[in-house]
Amino acid sequence: MQTIDIIVPVYNEEACLNQTIERLLNLKEKFKGKLSVSYIFVNDGSKDKSAQILEEFAKKDKSVKVINFSRNFGHQMAITAGLDYSKADYSAIIDADLQDPPELIYDMYEKSLEGFDIVYGKRLKRESETAFKKLSAWGFYRVLKSLCNIEIPTDTGDFRLITKNVREAFNKMREKHRFIRAMVPWTGFKSAPVYFNRSERFAGETKYPLSKMLKLAFDGIFSFSFKPVDLIFVLSAVLFLTSLVILGFGIFDGFEEEFLICFTVFLVGAINLLALGILGQYIGRIYDETRNRPLYIVKNSINL
Ligand code: UDP
Ligand code: MG
Repeated sequence: MQTIDIIVPVYNEEACLNQTIERLLNLKEKFKGKLSVSYIFVNDGSKDKSAQILEEFAKKDKSVKVINFSRNFGHQMAITAGLDYSKADYSAIIDADLQDPPELIYDMYEKSLEGFDIVYGKRLKRESETAFKKLSAWGFYRVLKSLCNIEIPTDTGDFRLITKNVREAFNKMREKHRFIRAMVPWTGFKSAPVYFNRSERFAGETKYPLSKMLKLAFDGIFSFSFKPVDLIFVLSAVLFLTSLVILGFGIFDGFEEEFLICFTVFLVGAINLLALGILGQYIGRIYDETRNRPLYIVKNSINL
């Protein structure tokens, strides 16, 4: 029989985990006679009881596999580790907080049988997420789409099912700054969406504070696009033209001298810093790549 690994990144999810694992285990029944189901929980350095809960389930059921990281390496690294360890015909990725309905993985599998190697969950509604999160996510996916040359589906997270072919291609990509929802389509395999309404977190708080959201957004933009560098050229042209205009005004002495000096110093200063910041983003990424550190460190594993 063919197999599927369900990969679940876990960070301080003690409030959800029991419920999530129960719901995921029910999938075995749904896939009966079609796919044999295993689970790879990647505990991303949780400080709460997540590790103990996972261990208990793993002791009772050999299909529950656990990878414990030595510390918190982040959501994208947890998914990467799960995909590295997955050996099944299909791999599915799902969050631990039941915002993504586990049962949809079955629909993804059925869709893949129509000849798709990537089936991703596309969000229709986002229940009870803050207006800020909804607006920033809406804007971000659209900005990213205009910046990058690859087709990144909008309103789509990492909740998806991929075939072994896609996984093997993906696992060859070892870049340090990872934006998985764009790296998967980069592989070029045929993809299709299944739609769902994103519900509330079952329990607990989001593990994605603004700082982590910004890091992910920056990885999406700077790891997939050189357009910000083009922006520097555009800005320098705008600045040059502005300086000509200021010069013109200066000649006719229409403005006070202090105003002109102040305005010019601030404008040039700000644009210079922006340009340096943009270049810095790329240089930092080059630095991280050359150091060639491992993407994550596994402390121990269970049933693997
Ligand atoms: N997560 C993780 N490492 C982190 C942050 C989050 O493994 O550093 C996991 C988390 O346990 C959850 C998933 O990534 O399974 C998505 O996180 P969350 O639900 O908090 O994000 P949101 O849905 O609020 O964007
Ligand atoms: Mg969530």
